[in-house]
Amino acid sequence: MATYSESDIRKIVEAIVRNTAGAASSASYTSTTYNGRSLIGIYEDMNEAIDAAEQGYRAVRAMTVEQREKIITEIRRLTVAEAAIMAEMGVAETGMGRVDHKKAKHLLVAEKTPGTEDIVSEAKTGDNGLTLTEMAPFGVVGAITPSTNPSETVICNSIGMIAAGNGVVFNPHPNAICVSNYAVDLVNRASYAAGGPKVLVCSMVKPTLDSAKIMQTHPKIRLLVCTGGPGVVKAVLSSGKKAIGAGAGNPPVIVDDTADIAKAGKDIIDGCSFDNNLPCIAEKEVFAFRNIADRLIEEMQKNGAYLINREQADKLAGIVLEEKVNKAGKTVKSVSRTCVGRDARVLLEKIGVKVGSEIRCIICETDFMHDFVQHELMMPILPIVRVDNIAEAIDLAVKAEHGNRHTAHMHSKNIDNLSAFAKAVETTIFVKNAPSYAGIGFGGEGHTTFTIAGPTGEGITSARSFTRKRRCVLSENFRII
Ligand code: NAD
Repeated sequence: MATYSESDIRKIVEAIVRNTAGAASSASYTSTTYNGRSLIGIYEDMNEAIDAAEQGYRAVRAMTVEQREKIITEIRRLTVAEAAIMAEMGVAETGMGRVDHKKAKHLLVAEKTPGTEDIVSEAKTGDNGLTLTEMAPFGVVGAITPSTNPSETVICNSIGMIAAGNGVVFNPHPNAICVSNYAVDLVNRASYAAGGPKVLVCSMVKPTLDSAKIMQTHPKIRLLVCTGGPGVVKAVLSSGKKAIGAGAGNPPVIVDDTADIAKAGKDIIDGCSFDNNLPCIAEKEVFAFRNIADRLIEEMQKNGAYLINREQADKLAGIVLEEKVNKAGKTVKSVSRTCVGRDARVLLEKIGVKVGSEIRCIICETDFMHDFVQHELMMPILPIVRVDNIAEAIDLAVKAEHGNRHTAHMHSKNIDNLSAFAKAVETTIFVKNAPSYAGIGFGGEGHTTFTIAGPTGEGITSARSFTRKRRCVLSENFRII
């Protein structure tokens, strides 16, 4: 695979914008059509979708690895070519995120999601002969995908799952069904163009909790892969099937007084405002040493952050969080779906503040118990809590992460402090001195994924996460030494 630098990616994005800008905004689409063309692989009934995905699985099993890789290459090519369409569609359909950033996310998926090279066999030889361990497919995978990175997750999951030799049926988020099904169709078009089956992966016309339930209990589904909030992760982990759960986070950031404060201020705002804070890895709250907090806030303001006071923060919290009575009869707060992923400018308007589009993030000073610290907002709102020392910073940051063990960030040049936080917080991703997205390969080393499986331990998932190990023992012989 070629590797692109961030400036290459920017150039590609600009080229795509020139070629396809406005393509989706002027298009007509539903969950089964795009500009009048029927999308391939979309079914009314989950049972039918699973049967079709099983046919896809049989076709993949019959292929050589080279043929699978050809399909994956074509998926990558179409994803780059149609990134702008999916980015515009994703924002238009969900009302969340930013078109340019969604384009960049699709390019990242196309470029840095591992393919068949991720599937590696092991051989052990000794006095008793040869033992071979191979990574085999599960069969048909049932995948549940979120509204926050909808088509990105469908394509990323498809590449990894097909590379591993599986079939896939998706039950996407209902609020992002058009763009998710566009991505399912893209994978099927790529398959057909590269000599594979016409229907390789499948999805639903109208996904519901009932269709998810059919998926979770269907005997042909051998593996469930769920990317979403705590509710859905709990549901698949209770299904009795092998499940990979990629759940919620609330990533804290610590900035100590050895950090490069100008860089920390810029990196934090870059990461926190990326796709309006929709990525689960994005910076959600900051714990800043008291002696550098003023400078950090100034640097953030130089980089598109707008500082609101405590009264304004409380007013905004009353708007972006809604009180609901849960099943146990308890009043709980949850994020307002009409505020998640919205531009900072739009959120500020709700409290009567008018700013230009150069403002990409709202910052405010709060105490630790403030709702902005405690809730995973998925909005470009960043609370900053002053701390006296590293012990206090780590204690509060670990508590704010709520035991998700998902992602944490730190800006520091003190190796002892960095190590102490990394050990204490135990997250799947720990990013030092960079924006959060470096943790998924954007300006950081390593492959990408949009399914970060903390609860079930697969971590930064890739093709090998969707395999089962099988052993073949050749007793006594077949060594060459
Ligand atoms: P969500 O939890 O509302 O929905 C995720 C998916 O689960 C959707 O397809 C939804 O229809 C389905 N779903 C919800 N409840 C279900 C149930 N009981 N049974 C079956 N299906 C159910 O999530 P969202 O708002 O789209 O995404 C945001 C959440 O997902 C955040 O908490 C974010 O941190 C998390 N997320 C995690 C990762 C990761 O890799 N760990 C990636 C993206 C998003």
